[in-house]
Amino acid sequence: MKKLVPLTLAAMIAFSGCSKPIYETDLKIEKNHISQFEQREKNAKIDTCIIHSTEYIDSITEIARYFEIKGVSSHYLITRKGSIFELVPPEYTAFHAGKSMMPFPDNRVSVNRFSVGIELIAEKAKESAFTEEQYNSLARLCVYLERKNGPLRYLGHSDVAGKNAVDNGLRPKYDFKKDPGKNFDWKKFYKTLDYFLSTTK
Ligand SMILES: [Zn+2]
Repeated sequence: MKKLVPLTLAAMIAFSGCSKPIYETDLKIEKNHISQFEQREKNAKIDTCIIHSTEYIDSITEIARYFEIKGVSSHYLITRKGSIFELVPPEYTAFHAGKSMMPFPDNRVSVNRFSVGIELIAEKAKESAFTEEQYNSLARLCVYLERKNGPLRYLGHSDVAGKNAVDNGLRPKYDFKKDPGKNFDWKKFYKTLDYFLSTTK
């Protein structure tokens, strides 16, 4: 299996040289809309971003088809190489969190109503590590979403559809969500996000 070498932010900046900075400010989002969505409630405010990981499928067409069959969706999907696809426009509700509940003391249920869902393609197993390109694209996408919606709270699917949801009777134990998993590096994500928040116009 290919080993991923973690890079620090400083190293990434140093590697980027002066010809092609890794922190480009232009954000490329390819649209590949699927039919799994519904209207948001009137005056719904997006204040949460749920991060997911999905098993490795090396084709956006295949993933879109898989989601359609399963009756699920996310707003965005980020490939291993960091390409961003919009599957559902964030103005609509996507079906990504399922039966869910915000952590105490928020406790709001049906998190889809007020959140944006972002899927990261995992390598083989759902809980494998993520690439530098994915952290970069994720952070840049989140800056874009915060500019549109105001500050967001970031949580993993497991935070809203894991133990909390099971303990509160929203989900059966066998449907306990674990993604994005222990290999998602929240520290790295926040560090990259802070970098882009402070440097992106
Ligand atoms: Zn998920």
